[in-house]
Amino acid sequence: MKIGIFGGTFNPPHLGHLAAAEAAIGALGLDKLYIVPASIPPHKELPEGTPAPEHRLAMAAKLADALLLPQVVQLSEMELKREGKSYTADTLAALREEYPEAELWLLMGTDMFLTLHRWREPEKILKLAGVCAFGRTEQDGEAVFAPQREYLQRTCPGARITTIPLPGLVDISSTRLRELLARGEGGDYLIPAVYGYILRNQLYSTHADLKRLAIPELRACSYSMVMQKRVRHIRGTEEEAVRLAQRWGADPDQARRAGILHDCTKYLELEEQLALCERYGVELDELERRAVKLLHSKTGACIARHVFGEPDEVYNAIFWHTTAKENMTTLEKILYVADYMEPNRTFEGVERLRELAYSDLDKALLLGVETTIQEMKDRSLPVHQSTLRAQAWLREHGVTTEG
Ligand code: ATP
Repeated sequence: MKIGIFGGTFNPPHLGHLAAAEAAIGALGLDKLYIVPASIPPHKELPEGTPAPEHRLAMAAKLADALLLPQVVQLSEMELKREGKSYTADTLAALREEYPEAELWLLMGTDMFLTLHRWREPEKILKLAGVCAFGRTEQDGEAVFAPQREYLQRTCPGARITTIPLPGLVDISSTRLRELLARGEGGDYLIPAVYGYILRNQLYSTHADLKRLAIPELRACSYSMVMQKRVRHIRGTEEEAVRLAQRWGADPDQARRAGILHDCTKYLELEEQLALCERYGVELDELERRAVKLLHSKTGACIARHVFGEPDEVYNAIFWHTTAKENMTTLEKILYVADYMEPNRTFEGVERLRELAYSDLDKALLLGVETTIQEMKDRSLPVHQSTLRAQAWLREHGVTTEG
């Protein structure tokens, strides 16, 4: 078993870290990669304004999640939980104890590699793990790596050292990013979910007004609230909703914002969902009280309105996007249908729904509603009253799924 260890202060994690982790997993053929945020780094002071450890941990978790390899990439709190300075030798010794047979590989960029001989117990480190070094800038070629590799191999015989190229080299440091963020820049160097987390928590002197975010920042905030694997669907829904708004004469900007935010509370636990409903005065029926899937549309609407300042139209579109209801507005229909048939959806019958969405929006809505009702019946699950009312209302108004 090959295990990689990627330590750092991750203050904040950025696209350079992501590119390095991605490349090392591939180049070394890692079975596991631990991302290990340091508590107190031995080699540098944590600068003033460094977010609390739980924030650095949450951001590092987003770096891990962004790699989309949940079986391989894991976040480790080992150093954050250990008292005192975070020495790599201690971390490796603990991992060696846990995995006596594994081949350990320590990942590091040029700056760390060139100072490795000055770390605490470098011989021990090189005995416990191989070193996988990568460049941080275009200039970091073999001429930079070779003398240090030769020195380490001479002073620590048997040391395993490999250097790997980074196909997606990103020339950025957390230090530079902190400066950029404080000036309201830097988003392009961050994993969107990390950027959104920073904005929502006003870290690194960012003071974005969450009620007036531009689209890239709104996306980042939304993605920071969900798992990375859901982002494709959210993006697909956003784009489909905009196309449908253009087709049916609704406001494309509202459609976009509703699409971006519609699933932002999807991963909250039932208790958190109920607490939000309570806080924002959403009345719930018996069925909704126990169905997270039904609750996320209501709480998502509340977050859209109260946190991100979205207007009633967007609030209502999100509120009804799971159950639908009678007499829906065009924007409500659009979000419901877009969520159902955005390009990443693959269920049987989705093509028919796609055709109808652009030829007759009501028919598409009815088809979506009836597909849901059928699915619930097949799974012996109760159908929400609003969904049944949506079906009845559409049928009373002469809508069919024929033709
Ligand atoms: P700071 O600017 O605060 O010193 P940093 O950007 O160097 O931070 P760290 O969290 O200290 O980030 O880095 C963790 C590890 O990631 C180190 O081994 C470092 O060399 C490596 N690394 C950092 N930035 C990059 C980058 N842009 N490309 C490749 N590796 C990087």
